[in-house]
Amino acid sequence: RPLVVALDGPSGSGKSSVSRQVASRLGLAYLDTGAMYRAATWWCVHQGVDLTDQPAVAALVASMPLEIGVDPSDPTVHVDGTDIAEAIRDSSISTAVSAVATNLEVRAELRRRQRELIDVERTAGFSGGVGVVAEGRDITTVVAPDADVRVLLTASEEARLARRAKDVHGDADASSVEATRDQVVRRDRDDSTVSQFLVAADGVVTVDSSDLDFEQTVQAVLEVVER
Ligand code: C5P
Repeated sequence: RPLVVALDGPSGSGKSSVSRQVASRLGLAYLDTGAMYRAATWWCVHQGVDLTDQPAVAALVASMPLEIGVDPSDPTVHVDGTDIAEAIRDSSISTAVSAVATNLEVRAELRRRQRELIDVERTAGFSGGVGVVAEGRDITTVVAPDADVRVLLTASEEARLARRAKDVHGDADASSVEATRDQVVRRDRDDSTVSQFLVAADGVVTVDSSDLDFEQTVQAVLEVVER
């Protein structure tokens, strides 16, 4: 029986690396939905569209030739044949992504594609029908509320800032944390209209990773899966 694991969380909760590792260990596909919103943002910027022009952005995303690779050991992102896995992590994209992600037509289109990708993994796809770990902001609530396992990965703001600082600057000293604070706090605020992920929906299990290291967090999620 295929297994669908939905995992939501804010930035810096560790959800991407934890989801990847859980998928790897269980032989599941790994779907990074944030990468799809980032790819949509990259594509619009690349095409020179004004991100506040909602109909133009929606039209462009509707025809975006996006290919998402769901192998957890090598998750790839291509648009129109161009490898953008690195480009979408640029701070210019992190800053702009909320403008695209709050566009309701964009959300409808990307959610449709996400459900399609999840459905493929239920029957065939990369996992050969074994299943998928899908992570993002609205997977447990909107994209896959029927998932077999639903987890909300939280962490204190302090812990999230320290992790982001380490990702971006390579360390978590005071100045790196401060440099990160603005971006993380602003993106949380900009995202808040579309993601009520800070409270777990009915039936969603909360895992607080504030005081857990990476391996402990992976174990905590695996325990929820095995329940
Ligand atoms: O997870 P990541 O930080 O890469 O997500 C980038 C952005 O994509 C988020 O800040 C949010 O604006 C958007 N997003 C979303 N819904 C999802 C996943 C990501 O709105 N399911």
